Amino acid sequence: MAKKTTQACCGFCGRTYAQVPVMVPSPIGDCLICSDCVEQINALLADYNKSQAKESDSTNASEKDALSKLPKPKEIREFLDSYVIGQDEAKKYLAVAVYNHYKRLAQDVNDVDIEKSNIIMVGPTGTGKTLLAKTIARLLDVPFTIVDATVLTEAGYVGEDIESLLTRLLQAADYDVKKAERGIVFIDEIDKIARKGDNPSITRDVSGEGVQQGLLKLLEGSIVNVPPQGGRKHPEQRMIPVDTKNILFICGGAFDGIERKIAQRLNTHVVGYSTNAERHSLKRDNMMQYVAPQDLKSFGLIPEIIGRLPILMHLDPLDRDALRRILTEPKNAIIKQYEKLFKMDGIDLTFTPETLDLIVDKAIEYKLGARGLRSIVESIVIDLMYDMPSSDQKSFEITAEYALEKLKKANFETGTYN
Ligand code: ADP
Repeated sequence: MAKKTTQACCGFCGRTYAQVPVMVPSPIGDCLICSDCVEQINALLADYNKSQAKESDSTNASEKDALSKLPKPKEIREFLDSYVIGQDEAKKYLAVAVYNHYKRLAQDVNDVDIEKSNIIMVGPTGTGKTLLAKTIARLLDVPFTIVDATVLTEAGYVGEDIESLLTRLLQAADYDVKKAERGIVFIDEIDKIARKGDNPSITRDVSGEGVQQGLLKLLEGSIVNVPPQGGRKHPEQRMIPVDTKNILFICGGAFDGIERKIAQRLNTHVVGYSTNAERHSLKRDNMMQYVAPQDLKSFGLIPEIIGRLPILMHLDPLDRDALRRILTEPKNAIIKQYEKLFKMDGIDLTFTPETLDLIVDKAIEYKLGARGLRSIVESIVIDLMYDMPSSDQKSFEITAEYALEKLKKANFETGTYN
């Protein structure tokens, strides 16, 4: 207890020894505080602590709430099924990976820390990589953006900065940073930033390694200053800091020629450790299904990037049956879209089964894959779309003969179909 002096008073309320029950001196100087003031400060602190606890409870509760609303992997899979044909394995992996990612966001931070697992999809172009990522984002209702890694190749050297990749995500989230920080970024053509040295198919004289290093920073989770309007960073431009810790990155690429790397690896492996029978059991027509992280490395991705994309999945090439189903089965199948367009003019448009087969044949013949289906259908119906809204005819059946004639006119060369 401090020695009583006539002038001594509480440094907070100014009252003297005589006016307060107890006076407490500072251990490092001559200032004093009275017990009344200490009590008041205590009450203030208790209130503050209570409000803080309430805030974190409600954040936890809203995260837990979000988790309870989060569709389970099987439900995610069912949703994907209604938009994407085939790709069973990729759908399963993706459903689990996305479920885990959003579970991770609801985790108790004091407990075991679940690390982020970004995804990489390997598969021929036009097989549904972008479609899968888009469909997932639609289901979860989170901001989603597609960026092209080939732009980054240039950006790293002459054009935009890598951070501007997040500008689009911010825009998709209406500049709500918190929302953007839980979004999904699909980086297409990731194979195009492979290191040139290990990848003879890249002829551009730009090493992808610098870009990969830049990308690494985003993938692993850090606070990145994003130019709100994209483009290059200007010193005078106001930047928006975005934390990429909880952004899910899904990368996709065709990785043309990776089958050779896979075959090489499997052959050496088989020679070393396995029997002839095992070697023959490999399905040579779709080597992509055996893709492993070391193949991405031989292709030219740096190990650090591969480490940040731990979920590796492959997409199968689309066969005739898959293409045929893509035409009519998905919720927004191409044929359904054209039927709807005509319906809006009160016209019933139908395609005979032979016409649908012809469309698939043409897509295969010209190696257009699923991407080509739309342009083929468009060429077939373009004249009808022009003429029918002004005619009295209220229905039309597109036969294979009609379709073939229109395709010839549209410079799809004469096929063998009849
Ligand atoms: P990529 O694998 O090159 O990212 P996309 O997902 O962009 O291919 O596919 C291009 C288009 O082809 C899609 O918009 C869709 O119309 C169609 N498509 C491709 N694969 C599928 C699939 N598995 N199921 C349904 N439609 C598909």
